[in-house]
Amino acid sequence: MKTRPEKNEILERLVITIDGPAGSGKTTTARGVARRLNLRHIDTGAMYRAVTWKVLETGTDIRDGDRVGRVALDICIAFADHDGSPKTVIADGTDVTDAIRSSEVTENVSLVSSYPLVRKAMVRMQRRFARSGGVVLEGRDIGSVVLPDAEVKIYLDASTEERARRRLKELEAKGVTKGMDEVRESIERRDRLDSGHELSPLKIPVGAHIVDTTDLTIDGQVARVCETATRTAARLFELMTAEKDPNRFKREKPIYRLGRLTILFLARILFGLRIVGREGYEFYENYVYASNHRSNVDPPVVGSTIGRELAFLAKESLFRNKLFGKLIATYNAIPTRRDAFDRRVIRRALALLDAGGSLLIFPEGQRVAGERLGDAKAGVGYLALKSGAPVVPIYVSGTQNLGRALIRRPRITVLRGRPIRVTDSATAEPTGANSREFGRMVMSAIETLHEDFENDGKLLGGS
Ligand code: C5P
Repeated sequence: MKTRPEKNEILERLVITIDGPAGSGKTTTARGVARRLNLRHIDTGAMYRAVTWKVLETGTDIRDGDRVGRVALDICIAFADHDGSPKTVIADGTDVTDAIRSSEVTENVSLVSSYPLVRKAMVRMQRRFARSGGVVLEGRDIGSVVLPDAEVKIYLDASTEERARRRLKELEAKGVTKGMDEVRESIERRDRLDSGHELSPLKIPVGAHIVDTTDLTIDGQVARVCETATRTAARLFELMTAEKDPNRFKREKPIYRLGRLTILFLARILFGLRIVGREGYEFYENYVYASNHRSNVDPPVVGSTIGRELAFLAKESLFRNKLFGKLIATYNAIPTRRDAFDRRVIRRALALLDAGGSLLIFPEGQRVAGERLGDAKAGVGYLALKSGAPVVPIYVSGTQNLGRALIRRPRITVLRGRPIRVTDSATAEPTGANSREFGRMVMSAIETLHEDFENDGKLLGGS
């Protein structure tokens, strides 16, 4: 098995997201970047447009969110590449490349894309498109909601005036005459609608690289994004091939290793534990591992699947029993008060991360029963942004009912996602809002793993 890709391979399998408001130049830029770096290009705006086209075409009541949602769930969208010309968009077998740019579609797309079912269907499709990497996705919520684990996140911006001017030029080229005021108003209205979406408002993803395109040419924009992508690929390559002390981050003290392997062994034979991870995405650096939490056995079980020494946060009350307290202290448990943003604990965790240690935390803060995941507490985002350590999302299933897991129905599964890292630290300053938002991104990545687990359960169950 190959664990060390070449430098070019990293560039070839990058996931690049480009978000921004209408008229900021996303499509042209994304197309140019994809062509230059030889990646696939997915225009997610075109996907929402295709759904809108289908809704109008079939005479579906556009005010009925459930019916519109059903159209989105059923539609089959594909992108066909024709060298040099804009991408062909196929919806249910029909070429809709031009039809989805009509004023009627443009006027209705914000409403259609505001329905939760529509977003759910499109987001799922977009994640599937991105799964194997090597892709540029452009849209409104790609870096923040759809693919928080993308290695390169770009936010394109431009003044309203400039965006209206570009749109006017586009319309003129098509022979449509409209006044500047009318076009500017239409853009402002779309901005308002797109920023007001409850589920995925247009916003700058935490850690994205902002490119103001007001005074840039298309070539200039493409060059800026390509530079950022190449720089990121070079940094990842460096992390992957650090030769100095390759095992520094993987070191385990003997007692830790013994305990970890014992738990791993027991979990495997008793509960059929299987670990599903992405090969080759964890490098010579330290991480914050963030997992959902359903059972008291999650810390040892999840911890046992990670081949390096970790520290954990554990409720203070667990230390009351002297013997047990001593045991968990051996396994690097840091006592913490439940539910509180405990400064002392944060300081200890930060010191540990600064020294190159890794941490396993449960962003929901406490066990959350049932299938639904809880919201992240502010701690995970703050720790990650302050320390700069990437966050590895983890989804664990099957620990909530060990009796059943014992007869392997369902067995325990631990799914590990790609690290969530920032592209530009200038937009990743840990403030209260940023920390919460980053925590939300982490939960969104865990939710994606959950969906993978639900959808591919049978597939994953093969081993
Ligand atoms: O980018 P474009 O203007 O083609 O997008 C059309 C519309 O699709 C946007 O105004 C927005 O309402 C919706 N959209 C979205 N989320 C995305 C991409 C587009 O809601 N990721």
